[in-house]
Amino acid sequence: MLRLGRIEIHRLDDGPFVLDGGQMFGTVPKVLWQRECPADADNRFAIACNCFLLVEGGRRTLVDAGVGRDWDEKSRRIYGLDPAAPTLMDRLGALGLGPGDIDRVLLTHLHYDHCGWATVPDGAGGSGGHRPAFPEAEYLVHRLEWDDAHDREARAAASYYERFFDPLEAAGQLRILEGGPEIALGGGLGALLTGGHTRGHLAWMIESAGHRALGLADLCPLAAHRRARWLTSFDLYPVEALAAKRRLLAAAEEGGWELLLNHEPDRPMRRPVRRGKDLDLDPLEA
Ligand SMILES: [Zn+2]
Repeated sequence: MLRLGRIEIHRLDDGPFVLDGGQMFGTVPKVLWQRECPADADNRFAIACNCFLLVEGGRRTLVDAGVGRDWDEKSRRIYGLDPAAPTLMDRLGALGLGPGDIDRVLLTHLHYDHCGWATVPDGAGGSGGHRPAFPEAEYLVHRLEWDDAHDREARAAASYYERFFDPLEAAGQLRILEGGPEIALGGGLGALLTGGHTRGHLAWMIESAGHRALGLADLCPLAAHRRARWLTSFDLYPVEALAAKRRLLAAAEEGGWELLLNHEPDRPMRRPVRRGKDLDLDPLEA
């Protein structure tokens, strides 16, 4: 847990899940990335699926909702989902919280590994439908992301599953964020429209008592992506992703902000530290 002024930040890992190394590092040769991320015989390695719970005053905000478990057997195998690993819901339970205790869910974007627990299958009536997993929460998504997630012709269409987000609108729990680049959300939290990874991709910033933490979401999923040109193959607008990441990492370095990494399995709360020409991200915890 990271305490930032009067805000608590808890990491809740819904992973691990397994991804292809080439997808994670795009044009970077394997001889370089495998030093930090050793791959298995199928060229894959396990990553975390970190969600962050922000507690300030009486309000609880969840940033991203994991990969979920609403997958068939084949998908579970492909993503390497471990049936024994604790889920986002288990980790909330370990903090003494249930789904009804979450007031807001900020979705950085709608790729399946960020909104898997946004909804759950609706057992009642056996209709095969889904309902919001957090019954009291307002769910926040940017307009551009919402629109692109519904474009079935889009290059990234295979990363979007409507069962994870359409029920939010049907239940009246969706709040579409407009504009940018900075969108104040109250309680010291702000969303930052970055583009790059997707057109409507959001980073987020939280501030309390002069301290700041920055969540880079998929602009810097693993600590290895701290290098500006190490981009994933999933970035739809790589030139924009590079520029946004460079700008935000420089601001974090200069401001002494903490960084929160969405997919880093090893101590994902970090602090940028300059060593010569390298920018390292040092873990905050031992
Ligand atoms: Zn993504």
